[in-house]
Amino acid sequence: FFITFEGLDGSGKTTQLRRLTTSLTKQGHKVVSLRQPGGTALGDRIRGVVLDSRSESSLGAIAPVAELTLMFADRAQAIAEVILPALEDGAIVLCDRFTDSSEAYQGGGRELGSERVLALHVAVCDGLQPDLTILLLPPLEPSLERARNRNQRHVAKLGTDENRFEREGDAFYRRIYEKYQEIAARDAGRVVTIAEEASIQVIEEKIYKIVSARIS
Ligand code: C5P
Ligand code: MG
Repeated sequence: FFITFEGLDGSGKTTQLRRLTTSLTKQGHKVVSLRQPGGTALGDRIRGVVLDSRSESSLGAIAPVAELTLMFADRAQAIAEVILPALEDGAIVLCDRFTDSSEAYQGGGRELGSERVLALHVAVCDGLQPDLTILLLPPLEPSLERARNRNQRHVAKLGTDENRFEREGDAFYRRIYEKYQEIAARDAGRVVTIAEEASIQVIEEKIYKIVSARIS
């Protein structure tokens, strides 16, 4: 069973994925979790490249289509090396971001459009679809505020210049948000949207109920 977590930066995906991993493991399930970009040695390098391009590193800005294809190179490696073997082994696979992120960020945010992303998904991923996608999509403004603060703390701590939120501007995130809404409406059988602002515990229980109902 293949489950992905989607949402904007700062929506709590990573926290929820970690908690779901713990509770499913306690229930005796075999669980394999990973994130994208990342999750393999190649993927971690690609993640480094993509994140570096947003700081004042020598790399400079990555062209949107280059960013898109890097995300799919990462995904191809993760599918071959981690996801398919784990699914064949009967594990529940939990992935922090998948193709919906490419559609939302590169397709929507970078304005490459859904068609190009979905064509790549078919070509590169053989159309592999999650059985269930948990989309954490609380109201945009508070999420942006949290992400900005987190980014500022990060910048203060590491002394880096990685301040994506100032660089991109809110319009970028608004396009991502709207693309996620579009994906959820289009693929309502697969995508379950959690659109409320609630405590980590409340969201965690909600997700646990949704997942339990689907995997049994
Ligand atoms: O999942 P996480 O928030 O850690 O993602 C790392 C960074 O990569 C974030 O800044 C996210 O916005 C970005 N990203 C992206 N395009 C994707 C996936 C992630 O720009 N397809
Ligand atoms: Mg995260």
